[in-house]
Amino acid sequence: MLRVAVVGSGPSGVYTAQALLNRSLVPEVRVHVLDRLPTPYGLVRYGVAPDHEKIKSLQNSLRAVLEDERVTFVGHVQIGGADGVPPARLAELYHAVVYCVGAAADRPLAVPGEDLPGSWSATRFVSWYSAHPDIAPDGFTLEARSAVVIGVGNVAVDVARILARGADELRATDVPRAALGALAGSRVREVHIAGRRGPSQARFTTKELRELGALPGARVVVDPAELAMDPAYAAQEGLPLPAVVRRNLDVLRGWSARGEPAAADAARRIRLRFFLRPVELLERGGRVAGVRFARTAPDGAGGVQDTGAYEDVEAQLVLRAVGYRGVELPGLPFDPVRGTVPHAAGRVLRDGVPSPGEYVAGWIKRGPTGVIGSNRSCAKETVASLIEDAPLLARRPAAEDPLAVLRAWGLRPVEWDGWLSIERAEAALGRSLGRGPVKIPDWQGLLAAARGEEG
Ligand SMILES: Cc1cc2nc3c(=O)[nH]c(=O)nc-3n(C[C@H](O)[C@H](O)[C@H](O)COP(=O)(O)OP(=O)(O)OC[C@H]3O[C@@H](n4cnc5c(N)ncnc54)[C@H](O)[C@@H]3O)c2cc1C
Repeated sequence: MLRVAVVGSGPSGVYTAQALLNRSLVPEVRVHVLDRLPTPYGLVRYGVAPDHEKIKSLQNSLRAVLEDERVTFVGHVQIGGADGVPPARLAELYHAVVYCVGAAADRPLAVPGEDLPGSWSATRFVSWYSAHPDIAPDGFTLEARSAVVIGVGNVAVDVARILARGADELRATDVPRAALGALAGSRVREVHIAGRRGPSQARFTTKELRELGALPGARVVVDPAELAMDPAYAAQEGLPLPAVVRRNLDVLRGWSARGEPAAADAARRIRLRFFLRPVELLERGGRVAGVRFARTAPDGAGGVQDTGAYEDVEAQLVLRAVGYRGVELPGLPFDPVRGTVPHAAGRVLRDGVPSPGEYVAGWIKRGPTGVIGSNRSCAKETVASLIEDAPLLARRPAAEDPLAVLRAWGLRPVEWDGWLSIERAEAALGRSLGRGPVKIPDWQGLLAAARGEEG
């Protein structure tokens, strides 16, 4: 019997468990999927936007893996950190440990004013409307009239869409009560999405982009002059552009042709801006009041350069969506430049040498890129390495009952029954509010629900 711990129950952790089950292993395998949260699914629960029901429903296929009799979900167990189980001790309990802990921190903008009240990482905003228990449920009030989202990837588009979408539509989702209340009372009228490069270099996908144009009560505004600055846009017909870029440019061209909407036409405007590099967050009365951008222009070599011109955009709310990055897990090697754990085909490298029994998969292995499905092939590669090593791993000592040891160490894991109890409590909360399931947004509530103390 090969005992494997997978740390992290997001897509990469669950796909790792699935790949382990799918391989005809000799000897047989048992997988414990550990997570610091009492809830499974990682960013599928706490990142994917609530109004993307189809992607959210991926939870059903992840669930099927976690319900396999050879798999045990072990929530509410932190590995590493001040209160966590050190990796070295975890390694004593299992033949192999696969770290699938994601990349939960945000990249800094590194400009003055970044920490002013009213300036937030998109990570935090996403966690708030997703009910992540690390963020206070009443963490945001949306008093701002104008918001700037810095970044032109899908996360930037997600947060802009949630700001621009009416709370009425989000009622049908599992958005927590306080966030729905704040969104209902939102005074935001202008949402600017700004990137330092041109539209052909933006990283959003066409589906996400198009969705912005379909929001009731909101109109997208694109400045034709900014599109024309992009050499790929100007020479589109003659250039072999990737299909996604061509489609994005077509969507943007359509919006730019419509011009500025009349005030009565749209309660909210989403302004997609390009060639603007943030250089400073402006302050008034101790809070953020705007963003100063340097105007950039193509440098002829595929990048951009400053033109010497500046533009100030008013904003009482700034959301920085310039990328995620991995966090060092004490006790595991870490590459601070890439924000990942060094590895060779998923085998963790300590001082350049594969460390027996330690593996890595998902965002913490390859960085925060790709879609959910990308984690499946990533996990398969790691599991292929683990299987290759299995004869040696099986000779390592492991605990007969790792859960009993974790309990003896004072931990109180939340197992699958506990998670099902949380699901029931969220359904009951939703019913009491005349909604579908509504997420419980705090640790106390989640743990009480897991232990059947709901209400
Ligand atoms: C805002 C946002 C929206 C997205 N939307 C989409 C989308 O619509 N479509 C799409 O295809 N992709 C989307 N993605 C990308 C997708 O979510 C990722 O590809 C995927 O979640 C990465 O999987 P992962 O398992 O590596 O990390 P995660 O999903 O982050 O899972 C990591 C897990 O590890 C746990 N963990 C972390 N540290 C520890 C520790 N020390 N001890 C124990 N447990 C720990 C965490 O609690 C978490 O459950 C989105 C990403 C973000 C950030």
